[in-house]
This record gives sequence, C-alpha cells and structure tokens, in this order.
Amino acid sequence: MAAMATDTTSSLIPGADRSPSSWGLGDGQAIPWEYAPAPESRDVVTLKERYGLFIGGRFVSAADNGTFATVNPATEETMALVARATLADADKAVRAARRAQTRSWGALPGRERAKYLFRIARILQERSREFAVLESMDSGKPIKESRDVDVPLAAAHFWYYAGWADKLEYAFPGRVARPLGVAAQIIPWNFPLLMLSWKIAPALAAGNTVVLKPASTTPLSALLFAEVCRQADLPPGVVNILTGPGEVGMALVTHKGVDKVAFTGSTEIGKRIAKGVAGTDKALTLELGGKAANIVFDDAPLDQAIEGIVNGIYFNQGEVCCAGSRLLVQESIAETLIDKLKDRLATIRVGDPLDKNTDVGAINSKAQLEKITELVASGVAEGAELYQPACDLPERGYFFRPTLFTNVAQSHRIAREEIFGPVLSVLTFRTPDEAVEKANNTMYGLSAGIWTDKGSRILEMAQRMRAGVVWANTFNKFDPTSPFGGYKQSGFGREGGMHGLHAYVRLEDR
Ligand code: NDP
Repeated sequence: MAAMATDTTSSLIPGADRSPSSWGLGDGQAIPWEYAPAPESRDVVTLKERYGLFIGGRFVSAADNGTFATVNPATEETMALVARATLADADKAVRAARRAQTRSWGALPGRERAKYLFRIARILQERSREFAVLESMDSGKPIKESRDVDVPLAAAHFWYYAGWADKLEYAFPGRVARPLGVAAQIIPWNFPLLMLSWKIAPALAAGNTVVLKPASTTPLSALLFAEVCRQADLPPGVVNILTGPGEVGMALVTHKGVDKVAFTGSTEIGKRIAKGVAGTDKALTLELGGKAANIVFDDAPLDQAIEGIVNGIYFNQGEVCCAGSRLLVQESIAETLIDKLKDRLATIRVGDPLDKNTDVGAINSKAQLEKITELVASGVAEGAELYQPACDLPERGYFFRPTLFTNVAQSHRIAREEIFGPVLSVLTFRTPDEAVEKANNTMYGLSAGIWTDKGSRILEMAQRMRAGVVWANTFNKFDPTSPFGGYKQSGFGREGGMHGLHAYVRLEDR
C-alpha cells in the first residue's frame, strides 16, 4: 500500500491545498498523492499443496510423514505444507550426498561440472519471474528487490563459479585443489535464494556435494531450486534440500559424514554450530550478525548520502546482516541531514510486497515483528527520540513503519543490538577519530559505509574500520566476484570471489 495523504478532504485534488514545500518535509506527513496499484501477477507461480524433501534427486516425504506450514507474511495465509525432516532424513541426505560425491560428481572433470552450473544459471534466468514472485510471497520482500537484486544475483553466482570449475589450477597456482567432500549448509530467511546460491555454487564448482537446510519460514525457493536441479539433469544426490527445524540443521552439523559446514544466521546459533564442529576436522565458515556504521562526513554529497542511508537500512525491511543500522553523522551537518532524511522517509511506500511500487514489504515472520517492536520500545524507554513517517499499514500481515531514532547514546540497546528491521539509530561525531572509535565500538564487524568527498579520507577510514566489507559513497552493493564476511562476532571465512572458492577446497602440493 502506498503512503496515504492525510488531509485530502478540502480539495478535489489530494494535497493541492498544501504547498509543495510542506509535502512531507520533515513534518511527519506523507506525500499527498496515491500511486496506482501495480501488482505483479501471481499466475507465474504454481503452488503445490505439499512439498517433499529433496534427497538423492527425488522428492520424498519425511520419515515420519511430518509437515509444517509456510506462511505468506504479507497476508498471514498458509501457502503450503512442507515436509518436516527428521534426524533419520538428515542421515539419509548426507549418505546420498556422499554417494554422489564419490561415485559421480567428485570424479567429473571441471569442464563437465561447469556445464551443469552454466545450465542452472541459465534456467534461473529463464524462470526468474517465477522465482521472484515466489520469493516475495514466501519472504515478504518487495518484488522490485527480488526481481532486480535477489534473483539476478543468484544467477550471477552460478555464472561466476561455473567459470572457475575448470580453472581451479589458475585460482590456486602451484597447488592442487581437491574438493572437501560433503558440505552441510544452513541458510537464513532474509535472502533465501541468494544465500542458497552463495553456498551451493562454489561448493559444486569445486567438486563437493551438498545438503542444504533453508530457514523454516522461507523454504519454497529452495524447493523450486530443487526442481531446477532436476531440469538441469544434475546427477542425483549432488544437491539435497532438507526442510525442517533447527535440530535438523544441528544433526547435519554434527554428522560424521559431513566434511564442511557453512552457516549464515544469528550469532547465537553460529556459536552453537562452532561448538558442534569443535574437536573435529570439519571446515567451518560462519556469516553472522552485524551492526554496521554508515559514516557521513560534512563534505559528503548529501543527497547521494541520503539515498545510500535509505538503501542501507530500509532495503529488504532492514532484514540484512550488513544493514547500515547505525548512522554516524558529523555534528555540523546533523540537523540538515536529518531533515533531508525525514523528507525522504515520507516518500517510502510500505505495503504489498507484490506491488511494483512498494519500497518496504512485510517483516518475515510474526516472531521477527515482535523482536523489532520490543527493541523499538526499548529505544523509546531509554530516551532516544522516535520518528516515523505517516503511512497507513495494511490491516493484515506483519508490517512495520520505517523508523528513525535520534538522540541515541552508544549504551542504548538500539545502538548495540542487531534489530534486523527498518530501524535506523542516528549518532553524531566531531572528528574522524571519534567516528572510528564509535564505528568499531560493537561486538560485530561485518560492514561499514563512508561518505566523503575526499579519496584520501576514504582510504584512511576504510583501513581503520574493523569490518569485512567497507563501502565508499555507496552501500549494500554485492557482486559474485567480491568476497564478503565478518570480523569479531560477525563470523569468519569469506563467501564470494576466489575467497569463496577457497572455503570449499583442500589445497595440496603438486
Ligand atoms: P537463526 O540463526 O535461528 O536461523 C538461521 C538458520 O539456522 C535457519 O535455517 C534456522 O532454522 C537454523 N537453525 C536454528 N537453530 C539451529 C540450530 N540449533 N542448529 C543449526 N541450525 C539452526 O535466526 P532466526 O531466524 O532465529 O533470527 C534471529 C535473529 O538472527 C534475527 O533477528 C537477526 O538478528 C539474526 N539473523 C541474522 C542473519 C544474518 O544474515 N546474519 C539471518 C537471519 C537472522 P529454522 O529456520 O528452522 O529455525
């Protein structure tokens, strides 16, 4: 639903009696016009009533026939029943992956593996609309993001790693790169298909087979991907998809037949997974939470910075591990910048994820909405100043207004904890040293942003950020060729680029 006019009764043309200079200019008012609905058609998606596990190239029921419901967070309607894997199913999937690794996939020459990956990439592109609509329905993200970001980037990862499959000797000169074996991969709900591609593409390129567990709130795009594997004639067992609760994930992590564990999700579960592999020779990569600083200096191009700030925190409802959730503004421009930001917030459209005009869709689950609501209440209770633009939220579904907090202290929970929602905390600084100190004053270290006119300042600041990714005069830009990963409690290991390939090989001397 678009932002609604608030005073339309006195004129035939909504908002015509308000001067343009007061249209949402930091006064909490919404833009005084409506957007015509532009819904994407759902017809391109064929939902099944029940989905099975994908093991050994076939869709099968869970050992005990159990299922769980996956819900559309924008409507609260059940979309389908999905098989709820048991520990026995986890064992079966690992065995299928092992068989495929030793009997077919591991022995295939790289150029043959590449052909499959190219084929998967092409099918993802051919079925991109179907994937985008399904992803938006199951996760709540706006169609313009699933259509323009998630799905194209997922395909790009398969294209990219397909290119490496027959060139491992060039990726690791002078060494022989051997696959690790079977990879257990556990992914979250914020970028379901994209996280799947980050994990599966490099693993397969290097000759590994995988068992992947999607998040329970967003299993459907992974199950559609399983169909793509069949369509691409991928040998059975190379990719296995297990839907089910966290304990199934842990059963994979601790399974003796698994050689590598890759996890993206919360720091809390990441720690449990690290304990689960401790004392074994399993390889492990963890991509966990974040509380990124987006730093704006007084010489920054402000209008550009506003777009970067908005993209940094309201993209994907702020449910992004590298979201720029702490805005650090140089004190001399803080007032101007915050006014501009409030203006911009008034134009953000919150509502139906399948509407092409929507900027902020539905929060992924009721539990996540409750977590955001609780943290926002803590911000108010601790004395920060809350600002939300006027906008009507749909009556059903899990929606939250874009939120801005000023007067935030570093000790506030909203400045320390990962909210994973459309909530921005603004802090100020006077000197570059103070900005560095505040930016690094977090247990996380996944990403950071720097906005300034000076190249030398970008280089100096980037070097001083304890963060895996630093964006300069932009934010939330992703590319399959560039590595991504964290410092401190944001995890370890890198995904993307050659670094991402490295995480799936054992290097031996020639
Ligand atoms: P989790 O870390 O619980 O979930 C991520 C994945 O891990 C899901 O597939 C989940 O399965 C699985 N999982 C859950 N418990 C276990 C376990 N004991 N062993 C192995 N796998 C497990 O994240 P939540 O969904 O609970 O979100 C909570 C918070 O985590 C968010 O508010 C956000 O702050 C952060 N988060 C960070 C993400 C990131 O990208 N860094 C992504 C998602 C969340 P299941 O879905 O079945 O529970």
